[in-house]
Order: sequence, then structure tokens, then C-alpha cells
Amino acid sequence: MAKDTEERIYKEHMYEEGIHASRVQAKIGTVIHPRSVKGNFRTFKSAVMFLAYATFFILPWVRWERPIGSQQAVHFDLIGKKFYIFDLVVHAQDIFWLAALLFLAAVLLFFATALVGRVFCGFFCFQTLWTDAFRSIEKWIQGDRVQRIRLDKQEWNSEKIRKKGLTHFLWLAMAFWTGLSFSMYWTDAPTLFVDFFTGNANPAAYATTFILMFTTYLAAGWIKEYVCMHICPYARFQSVMYDRDTLATAYDYKRGESSCGRAKPIKELKNIEVRHEKGHGDCVDCGMCVQVCPTGIDIRDGAQLSCINCGLCIDACNSIMDKYGWARGLIRFASENELEGGKTRFFKLRTYGYGVAMIASIAFLLWSISGNELVDASSYQIRSPLYVILSDGRIQNSYELKINNKSLQPAEFKVSVTGMNNLELSTGKIDKLKVAADNSMKFLIKLRHQQLPTDKKKTSINFVIEPVSGEFRDKIIVPSQFIMP
Ligand code: SF4
Ligand code: SF4
Repeated sequence: MAKDTEERIYKEHMYEEGIHASRVQAKIGTVIHPRSVKGNFRTFKSAVMFLAYATFFILPWVRWERPIGSQQAVHFDLIGKKFYIFDLVVHAQDIFWLAALLFLAAVLLFFATALVGRVFCGFFCFQTLWTDAFRSIEKWIQGDRVQRIRLDKQEWNSEKIRKKGLTHFLWLAMAFWTGLSFSMYWTDAPTLFVDFFTGNANPAAYATTFILMFTTYLAAGWIKEYVCMHICPYARFQSVMYDRDTLATAYDYKRGESSCGRAKPIKELKNIEVRHEKGHGDCVDCGMCVQVCPTGIDIRDGAQLSCINCGLCIDACNSIMDKYGWARGLIRFASENELEGGKTRFFKLRTYGYGVAMIASIAFLLWSISGNELVDASSYQIRSPLYVILSDGRIQNSYELKINNKSLQPAEFKVSVTGMNNLELSTGKIDKLKVAADNSMKFLIKLRHQQLPTDKKKTSINFVIEPVSGEFRDKIIVPSQFIMP
């Protein structure tokens, strides 16, 4: 395209489409074509995206050495009821860790929102990350904002069919790879990869992959930020977490408007002193902040529900301020108090409360995970009957002893009993209690004792389970009781 035509289209949309987009942002179906921008927030967003994608797509392929051989480093084994995360093995009975983790995530979200607004939405949410990637593909194939608007408006011809077709093909490919990568976390990745393309994979893997592919394509390719504006429940209740000290992307209206409002940077109004003398603010009304906005809003209209705090309008405005040599920060992360000339108070009862809840849940998780024993045991006293009087007059109690070996090696144990003198223990014909790797076993234990007139009816005892092979050394004490007639 000729440079002057490009410039004409650019100017046309710079002052009209950008503002127009801001006015119609709430209507579902309006196609928003954000302009690309460079700056600190854009760089940070790209870095987060790169890290998130690298983690999500590569992790299923990472192998990890375990005692039973090389396995997938992160594997959510639903059939075996175990989650493998590098050296950590989460068993079904550890599921409360998940509850603690969800609680921590919720508190972290509340804490971050109270301090810096909706930054999770702008930088870390899956919807934002995938939409951003889909937009990058769109930009790569169809060009930046102006070219995309022009392409949308033009008649369907070979160029439009080719560019739109290629964009959707690449979106579908990325959505498919997203679905397949997700499925790989639940089974052995290399096996699934081969089985999937040879038609031998489990139907659940095909269903999961294609459902996720379809939803990703729809959400990141078609619905885009409308998910954030109209569907996501978090956007609805975030306002209750905001207060006058919450940092959010904000237009410094005092500086931008001054007494006589915005003014285009024509002639002497390029000079900041002249602008201020004439009562104009620093906003040159270029519409750049609107054009780069992925939700198509005009942040100069004030705080809005649709703003995901991505900071791209800050980058855009800073680039304009740099161009004229004026101070950055006309749009910046600022609190309502700061914009009105006051100070932002970060240390408040609410933030302390969130902080304490966050530290407590992290501490609990660390304590619980680090103290997690690779072996545990429990005993169940057989109650029907509670005791048996043997032919020689001795009293016999029976117990079911369950040993749970969570390690990835088989182990053997010896059992003894303490707490009562002359108590005779029998494990039947079993000498050592053997438990296979990552398994649990139940053993029948019998205790016998000669009844004396001085004996109590109920005596507290302890089973002492001592590892004789395997990777653990500590004895396990299981409390129980011995019952006399
Ligand atoms: S107004 Fe600014 S921070 Fe808010 S969504 Fe638009 S570009 Fe992002
Ligand atoms: S980018 Fe800055 S100068 Fe341009 S319209 Fe927005 S606030 Fe005004």
C-alpha cells in the first residue's frame, strides 16, 4: 500500500474509528481491532505469555526419574488416583491440599485486586493469554489495526479469503494443540501422541481434546475480550474489592483536561508552556489509548467495568508523551485518592487481613507437604466379638492393621506391641508384613493375655510398626486398646 494512502487510513481511524470503538464497546458482535503498541506493559505481557506457553506446552513432555523408572514429570493419574508433580506424589487422601491451594489462589486474587486492581485479568488469565496469542496470529497474517479494518470492509476476494482462511486455520491448529496438550497431562504424553494419530487413543482423550479445541477457538478467536466484559463472573464482583486506594489504570483527568480541555498538538500547542498558558491539558486527543485497548474502551471516560488493567493504553500514551518530550504518566496505575491529590494507602486492615490469610495458607500447605509421611498405618479393633476366651483361659482380641505405603518402592515391616506386660502378638503365618510400592495392605493381628484379678477391663496399648526394608526408617506408633471381660 502506498505510504500516503496508509497514512490517510491511519489518520481516519486514529480520530474516528478509535473513538467510535469506545462508544460501542458494550455491544456484543462489534469487532474490535486493537492497534499494536510497544512499551513496558506490552513487554511484560509478552514475557508472561511466553513463560505460560512454554510451561503449558512443554511440561507434558518432561520426563522425571522415579524409583520405578523414568516417568512423566507432571502426570494427573485419575485411574491410579494419584497426581505426580516432579518428586511430589499427591494421593487421594491428600486432596485437602487442593482445597488449601484453591483457598490460597482465591485469597491471592483478592489481595492483588485490593492492591492493584484487575491485574490478573490483564496479564495472567488464560482467556487473556490465549486471546493475545490469537491476536498475534491475526496481526501476522492480516496486518495491524488499519489493515485489518480495511480487510474487514473490503469485498470478499482472493486476498480476503486467503488471509482470513489462513488466520482461522492457524487458530484451529493452536486450539487443537491446546486441547491435545491438556489431554497429555492425564496420561503418558508420548503414548497418547502416537495413539491419538493412529486412532487408538481412549475416546475420553478425543472428546477432551476436541471439546477444548472448540472452546479455545470460540473463546480466543471469536468472543475474545467479550468474555471479560460480559461472561466472566470475576469482572462482576471485582468492584466490591476496589476502594479509593486501589491502583488501577487511570487517566489523570486534571493534568489531561486542565481548565480548557484537551487540544490537538497543532502549531504552538506542541509547546507545553503555551498549552498550559492557554488552559489546555496535556491530552493531545490522539485517540491512541483507545486504539490499543483490547476491550475498545476510552479510559479517559473514567474507571469502567470493561477495563482489564492490561496497561496497554499506558504504553500508548507514554509513547505520545515521549514524542513531545513531556512527562510520562498521563495514563498510569493510580488510585482515586492519588488522582485527587492525596496519597495511596497500601497498609490497611483489609490488605493486612488478606496478607495474613495468604501467609497462613502458604504456611499450612508447606507444613502439610513437608510433614507428609511416605507411610502411614491405622488399626481397627474387630468388635464382633470384642474378645474371645480361649480354651486355656486366655483372652484374645483381634485387630485389622492397615499399612499404606505411599513410596515408589516395596517395603517390609515388623509389628510389636507395647503398653501391657506379657501380651502375646500373633500375625498368623506371616513373618514380615510386606506392602507393595504405592499400595496398601490389611493384616489380621491377634493379641492374647492371661487374665489376672488385678487386670483392668480396658488397657491402652500401642502397635509399633518398624520398617525393615524400603526407604523409611522411622517407627510408626498406632494407638489401640485391649479389652478384658
Ligand atoms: S483501558 Fe487501558 S488498561 Fe483498560 S483494558 Fe483498555 S488498554 Fe487495557
Ligand atoms: S494517548 Fe494520551 S494523549 Fe492520546 S488521547 Fe489518550 S490520553 Fe490523550
